[in-house]
Amino acid sequence: MDNCIFCKIVSGAIPSKKAYEDEDLIAFHDINPAAPVHVLIVPREHIPTLADSDQKHQALLGKMMLLAPKLAEELGAGYQSSTDGPAGGFKALFNTGPDGGQEVYHLHLHVMGGPRPWRGQR
Ligand code: AMP
Ligand code: ZN
Repeated sequence: MDNCIFCKIVSGAIPSKKAYEDEDLIAFHDINPAAPVHVLIVPREHIPTLADSDQKHQALLGKMMLLAPKLAEELGAGYQSSTDGPAGGFKALFNTGPDGGQEVYHLHLHVMGGPRPWRGQR
């Protein structure tokens, strides 16, 4: 998609601070982080919103969800469960459409974590 900022990041035309990449996905740090750790997991394929995904994207969506806890852990926002109780953790979020607060119409999974308080408590 010619005018899509995340397609431009995927192609390398716009720089990003990458946290992960493979043949299907890239992840990069959000330019305006809402939490101490805030990365976006983005498919290389241009899918505008979660509501535009269908059966053929099932494996891709599963891969995005499974990457979220791995990246959170790597970036210091992992979830721990211990005898003292739960600690750490993150939020994984797809904003969808105007009422869902979506600003960039190329599917992305926000992974936000780290010690609270966070800006805006998003
Ligand atoms: P959403 O509101 O769910 O569409 O989120 C879009 C996110 O993309 C926002 O959190 C922005 O800060 C982030 N963003 C926009 N442009 C860039 C960029 N060039 N590099 C990294 N993150 C970006
Ligand atoms: Zn795109």
